[in-house]
Amino acid sequence: MADKKLELVIDAKAALGEGPCWDSEKQLLYWVDIMGKKVHVYNPKENTNRTISVDGYPGAVVPRKSGGLVVAMNQGYYALDLETEQLTLLASPENEPKTNRFNDGKCDASGRFWAGTMGMGSSEPAGNLYFLDQDLKITHLLDGIGTSNGIAWSGDNKTMYYIDSPTKQVVAFDFDLSSGEIKNKRVVVNIPEGEGVPDGMTIDSEGMLWVAQWGGYKVSRWNPHTGERLEIISVPVERVTSCTFGGENLDELYITTAGGGSLSEEELEKQPHAGGVFRIKVGVKGTINYAFNG
Ligand code: ZN
Repeated sequence: MADKKLELVIDAKAALGEGPCWDSEKQLLYWVDIMGKKVHVYNPKENTNRTISVDGYPGAVVPRKSGGLVVAMNQGYYALDLETEQLTLLASPENEPKTNRFNDGKCDASGRFWAGTMGMGSSEPAGNLYFLDQDLKITHLLDGIGTSNGIAWSGDNKTMYYIDSPTKQVVAFDFDLSSGEIKNKRVVVNIPEGEGVPDGMTIDSEGMLWVAQWGGYKVSRWNPHTGERLEIISVPVERVTSCTFGGENLDELYITTAGGGSLSEEELEKQPHAGGVFRIKVGVKGTINYAFNG
């Protein structure tokens, strides 16, 4: 389609741009630069990008119903006050190794904040998947995770999709919205060899998955019922990290990338906008990002 044109909306040169989360109420895009230790608030109407420096590695950020944001950072969930820019620890999982940090996360339809961890340095799969509920209680769901990444739920809230990047797969679980329980894991998408690994993802209003490919220069749209790839959005950056739908009509796909500030001159020539945030209208509507309910 001729009208599908990828735009560079923030030439942020983020070291590790990640975790885009659209706030439908405020019409803002929250996103993080994990290694750059920054939380960003992008306002598309005014084309401004506010940067909040934080003392840690923020893996994921979501709006909080009672105000402000919640950031999954280092080994804890923190409230971020947008006026004072102060962080307050809400809860930390027990027994999480200090060599782990929180990575990607998202809220489910009842406002639990799901987020997973990954090891820094060691190649052993030492990560875990958790959620924080409205009583600020943490529940442990999965262990033995390499790099906890994309999470999405089907429109009927009966299925949860999940990515542990080194597996090069997207898996599905039966999901119980009332309890948050997941079970019956199965593989629904396999990323082809030579296309990097799956990173963040979102789901559209037709139930199809949009998966960012780290090392793959692209976002792909997949049918999780057949495992078939439906579409490819080429991105001029090797490390494509995540995506989410935004805009007034939820029909704009925002895409985050990594590599700013760390590429060789030669690499930078090939991908001058590494670490930028991109946007494209893909002809389908997305689904909303939920706020944390606590
Ligand atoms: Zn990620």
